[in-house]
Amino acid sequence: MGRLLPQEVHHVVRLLQGASAHSTHSVTSVSLQCKASPTKESGFRSSQCLGFNKYYPPDYDGEKHKSLNAYRGKHALGDRARKLDKGILITRFELPFNIWCGTCNNHIGMGVRYNAEKKKVGMYYSTPIYSFRCKCHLCDGWFEIQTDPKNTRYVVVSGARQKDEEWNPEENGGFAIHDTENNSATTDPLIALEKSTDAHKHLTNVQIPRLESLQDLSDHYNNDPYARSAIVRKHFRAEKRVEAAKRADDDRIKGRYGLPETLKLVEDSDEARNEAREEWERGRRHLEEQSSIRKARLSSSAGPNPAASLRERVLGNMYNSKLVEKRVRKLGVR
Ligand SMILES: [Zn+2]
Repeated sequence: MGRLLPQEVHHVVRLLQGASAHSTHSVTSVSLQCKASPTKESGFRSSQCLGFNKYYPPDYDGEKHKSLNAYRGKHALGDRARKLDKGILITRFELPFNIWCGTCNNHIGMGVRYNAEKKKVGMYYSTPIYSFRCKCHLCDGWFEIQTDPKNTRYVVVSGARQKDEEWNPEENGGFAIHDTENNSATTDPLIALEKSTDAHKHLTNVQIPRLESLQDLSDHYNNDPYARSAIVRKHFRAEKRVEAAKRADDDRIKGRYGLPETLKLVEDSDEARNEAREEWERGRRHLEEQSSIRKARLSSSAGPNPAASLRERVLGNMYNSKLVEKRVRKLGVR
């Protein structure tokens, strides 16, 4: 059989384990052969630990090399670790917000992924600050985004512009979450003193009197709830009575003139009464004028003496008829 490499030994063992009973002898012989070669023993053991799907060259020594990556002089992360000597690891970075590239000015949407150069650039207390340097996929420009542990967000450092779409609670009537200005103010003792004095003045001159006046007002209205309630109820009853009387009055009028139920009547007052009277007088005057005009028209068409005009008309019609004239004279028309 000759010399076997550790992985070849395993392959053979597995083949033989799956075969018939007489193979037991062969397995023993193979392992015996392996044991007989002391230099290969360690390699065999390490290959047992690491798995089968890797090639272990003949000069590989498990104790010396520790791992196949170390043996080949490669990093476990492969090509992504090619700039590790500069402290840069290439990672897949997804844009956490919309940006505009500073070089080509194109809009790049949130969620676009880049092979970014990840680098530790500083610390915020015990939290490292990482920078991600990405090459724009639309041009040759680079942009850099850093983590901001203080505000738990990402910030664009260079090469791009962030689209400001964050919901600001302060602008929408809420309270600021990251109140960073207070710390700087309290560092100056004079400003702090001034602020506290102003606050005290405001409290004594404005807030306390205001509170007291509010308390007085509240007492004024609430010290005797029974009396207040009685007044309100009395007032309400009086209003209700007036309303009921008015409704009955309206119904009576509507019933008398056969007006629709839904019609709203104006409230009875001096003003309404005067207006109605004026309207009635205007109507009557109009009627009088109309009738006088009609009379005048009738009298003008009849002439000043109706009997004479009738006579003229009759004579005109029957000029040649003396009989008719006689008859007319007999009737005594002149
Ligand atoms: Zn670009």
